[in-house]
Amino acid sequence: MFDSLSDRLSGVFDRLRGRGALNEADVRAAMREVRIALLEADVSLPVVREFVDKATERAVGQQVLKSVTPGQQVVKIVNDALVEMLGAEASDLDLDVSPPAVVMMVGLQGSGKTTTTAKIAKRLAGKDRKKVMMASLDVARPAAQEQLAVLGRQADVATLPIVAGQQPVDIARRALQAAKLQGFDVLMLDTAGRLHVDQALMEEMKAVADVATPQEILLVVDALTGQDAVNVAKNFSDQVPLTGVVLTRLDGDARGGAALSMRAVTGKPIKFAGVGEALDKIEAFHPERIAGRILGMGDVVGLVERAAETIQQDEAEALAKKMAKGQFDLNDLRNQLQQMQRMGGLGALASMMPGMKKLAGVAERAQDDKTLGRLDAIITSMTPRERAKPELMNAKRKIRVANGSGTTVQDVNRLLKMHQEMANAMKKIRKMGGLGKLAAMFGG
Ligand code: GDP
Repeated sequence: MFDSLSDRLSGVFDRLRGRGALNEADVRAAMREVRIALLEADVSLPVVREFVDKATERAVGQQVLKSVTPGQQVVKIVNDALVEMLGAEASDLDLDVSPPAVVMMVGLQGSGKTTTTAKIAKRLAGKDRKKVMMASLDVARPAAQEQLAVLGRQADVATLPIVAGQQPVDIARRALQAAKLQGFDVLMLDTAGRLHVDQALMEEMKAVADVATPQEILLVVDALTGQDAVNVAKNFSDQVPLTGVVLTRLDGDARGGAALSMRAVTGKPIKFAGVGEALDKIEAFHPERIAGRILGMGDVVGLVERAAETIQQDEAEALAKKMAKGQFDLNDLRNQLQQMQRMGGLGALASMMPGMKKLAGVAERAQDDKTLGRLDAIITSMTPRERAKPELMNAKRKIRVANGSGTTVQDVNRLLKMHQEMANAMKKIRKMGGLGKLAAMFGG
C-alpha cells in the first residue's frame, strides 16, 4: 500500500505549524511530498511538474486559516487545483443536432469499449428517454458484433442487424441510414479495438468518422493501465478529433492519476466513469472524487473548509465577549446589522445558543424586512453619546433622528425596541453563565 499523502506530510506539517502566511520555502517543502504522491498515483511526470508549479504559485503568500496547520492548508489548495485541472465544469454529452446524433466510441481492445457503449446507450434510453440504436463496426475481433447484440438485448436497446463480411465504413453507412429511416435519436458506433495503437486502426477510425460525422467521439480507456492509458490517449487524440474520454474500471484500485494525465494530454473532458461490469455501472465523472483518491485525504479538505467557516465565528466570539460584559450598545447593533448583511452574524450565533431562539428571531426579522439600510441610517443620525446610551432617546431626540435619517419616529422606536430585546436576551445569556459557555463553544 502507498503511504497516504497525509502521512507523508505530517512531518512537514509539524515543521510548518503556527505561522501566519505560507512562505515559499514551506510551500516547496510540502510540494515535494505532493509531487511524490502524484507520481505514485500514476500521474505522468510533465503533468506533475506543471501542476506543482501552478499549485505552488497559488499557495505562496496565502494566509493560513486558524485551526488548521499550514500543511493541511496546502493540501486543500492542491485539492482545489486538482479538481480544477480535472475539469470542474460539468460535461455531459452534447447531442443537440438533428437526429440521429452519432456517438462514436474508440479505444483499445479490452478497455471496456463495448460494455461502455451499451452502458451509455442504456443511460440515454432510460434517463434521457432517447430512442437509441447501437452498431458494432468491429470486424477484427470474432464475435464482437454478436457481443454488442447480446448487450443490446440486456439493455433493451436496438442493435443494427449483422451482415456478415461487411467492412467498418460500409457498416457505418448502413447504420446511419437505418437510424435515419427508423427515427432514432442517437446512433452509437462501437468501433474496432486493437491490442496496441497502430496506423491501420487510426486510418480506420478516420474513415469511419468521415462517413458518420459523429457529434461525439469518446475515447474509452482503462484507468488501471495508468501510464499506458495516457500514451494511448495521446495517440488517439493526435489523430482523431476526440470530444471526450470515458475512464473505465474506476471501481478497481486505480489511484486516479491517469485521469489527471489524460485530461492534461488530450485537453478533453472526462465525461463518464465506469464503475463496474453491470450495465448500470456508469456515472458522470466527479473530479472531486478523483482528487480525493489521488490525495487520499478527503478528511483534510473537509477540515480546511470548516476552518474557513470559523473565521466568521471569530467575529461572533468578539461580540459574545462584549455581550457578556453587558456592553452591547447601538454601535454594536450597527456592526451586527452590517455583518448580517454579509451573512449569519448574530442570527447565526444566537441560533447556536440554547434558549436564544428569540434573539435569532429578531435578527432574522430585520434581515427579512430588508430594513437593514434604514436601521443603519437611523443609528448614523444619532450622536455618539446617544449610540452608547440609547436610554437618552426622548421624544425630541427621536424626531430629530427620524428627520435626519429620512425615516419616521415609529422606525426609530422599532429600532430601539429591537435593541432592547437583544440586550435583554443577552442578559439571559449572562445568567446562563454565558461567557464560559460561549468560550467553550468557540474552543476557548
Ligand atoms: P472492449 O474489448 O474494449 O470492447 O472491452 P469489453 O467491453 O469487452 O470489456 C472487457 C471487460 O471489462 C469485460 O469483462 C467488462 O465487463 C469489463 N469492464 C468494462 N468496464 C468495466 C468497469 O468499469 N469496471 C469493471 N470492473 N469492469 C469493466
